[in-house]
Amino acid sequence: MSTRKTTFKNDRFKKDRGGYSRWLLLSCEKCKAPLMTYQKDGPGILKRLYLDRITSPSDKLERNKNLSCKNCKMILGVKTAYKKENRPVYRLFVGAIKKEIVSGKVRE
Ligand SMILES: [Zn+2]
Repeated sequence: MSTRKTTFKNDRFKKDRGGYSRWLLLSCEKCKAPLMTYQKDGPGILKRLYLDRITSPSDKLERNKNLSCKNCKMILGVKTAYKKENRPVYRLFVGAIKKEIVSGKVRE
């Protein structure tokens, strides 16, 4: 079993979503450039990205602007706030991002 240095964030947001998480590798759907590793809390589809769940972003990501792929310039999502939890998020455009569950340790 491989060991992973990055550990999941454990906080009330995670608890509110059932208390488990997965790592997703997100890439640009258009040009397939890898964008980031993302901690997805709980079940359900990925509609928005919480900025505090983005880990190991590549240099293809600009954090302070809308989410876009630096490789192909495609805009992937819009920065906004998830008011219910007062957290900054990227609201994703449908079909803009490719998701795959990272193999290895997916639960803790
Ligand atoms: Zn791209």
